[in-house]
Amino acid sequence: MMKFFFLFILLIFVISGFSIHLDVRLLSQKQLNRMEITIHAGKYNLYTDKKQSLEIEKNQSVFIRKDGDSVSVTVGTSVFKSSQIHLQGSSFINVFRLVPKEANLSELLFDDDLIIKTDSTGLVLVNHVDLEHYVAGVVQSEVGIVKDQMEYYYVQAIISRTYALVNYLKHNEEGFNLCDNEHCQVYKGRNRNADISRAVAKTSGVVIVDENLQMISAAFHANCGGQTVNSEDIWTIPTSYLKAVSDSFCFNQSGATWTKKVSLKDYNSFLLTQQLSETDFVKAGKNMVLFSQPERKIVGPHRIPLKTFRTYFDLRSTFFEIVLEENKVVFVGRGYGHGVGLCQQGALEMIRKGYDYKDVIKYYYSGVQLIHYSQLKYNFMP
Ligand SMILES: [Zn+2]
Ligand SMILES: [Zn+2]
Repeated sequence: MMKFFFLFILLIFVISGFSIHLDVRLLSQKQLNRMEITIHAGKYNLYTDKKQSLEIEKNQSVFIRKDGDSVSVTVGTSVFKSSQIHLQGSSFINVFRLVPKEANLSELLFDDDLIIKTDSTGLVLVNHVDLEHYVAGVVQSEVGIVKDQMEYYYVQAIISRTYALVNYLKHNEEGFNLCDNEHCQVYKGRNRNADISRAVAKTSGVVIVDENLQMISAAFHANCGGQTVNSEDIWTIPTSYLKAVSDSFCFNQSGATWTKKVSLKDYNSFLLTQQLSETDFVKAGKNMVLFSQPERKIVGPHRIPLKTFRTYFDLRSTFFEIVLEENKVVFVGRGYGHGVGLCQQGALEMIRKGYDYKDVIKYYYSGVQLIHYSQLKYNFMP
């Protein structure tokens, strides 16, 4: 019995030794000049660049304001200035609340630490957050509530964790790891859903690797329309794991099909931007418009890449056909998103049909394995 106890302690020690923190810039698309921070749980120490420190208790507030190149801080009756502020949690669970003082911004809760700096635009807020807390926040922000489908949360947790570690250096030059919007992953603070917390804990540390044990670029999209796309067909870089697969699971899901009508005149203007002359177009008549793709193609009519159509006409996907209807050009499409990697609606349907999270991940990413990041043989966070 004693032996197992020591093994257990050793295991805890080994796992905690590998715990990773990320620096995530918060409200990165907003201009912030004033901010109130209230301690929601635990206790914090506030450090300035002059190594002053102050204990901040639960429910106590810190008022922050940009003052030139400095951060001006007010706590109770104390006021001081610093080029940088670090609010460091000192309890087992530490949570702070951000109350932006600008219009149209709502309060948000975050786990762990906060670093506040300034740049030419305003305050720069960076959440120094435990990887697993971050993953739970991202799953809640990106997926929301999916009732009674824990396996789906496992899938998203593993994808989000892999993404975070693969992109660890994405914002390195700006002094943090990831931003909090679609450019990286959407992160709107602390997760409050018990199922998501359980899913993140159950898959703690698990990432997706390719056949060479390198973490993968775990691309995903809403609905593939019945067939996913090779990564090289969209982003020019081939991988062993982002390969086209056919997908019957997402067919009948909401938003699986769409249409968009544009006038012949607008379509014609588009062709002109693609170096096709108006005379060519008129000469060939409607045959220049009609286009079908029973299986996914990369190049559309007139040898124009389908992704060019998607961007120009703001289409939901590149999986569309083109028909003529009176004076309108009609795009009749399937799916939503770029179509590379995991199809979220298909994945959810697989799970409803009884497949588990490993089946789903291995279905959409070819030849991959799941391992704990501590087993990686290379240093992904130099
Ligand atoms: Zn980013
Ligand atoms: Zn699909």
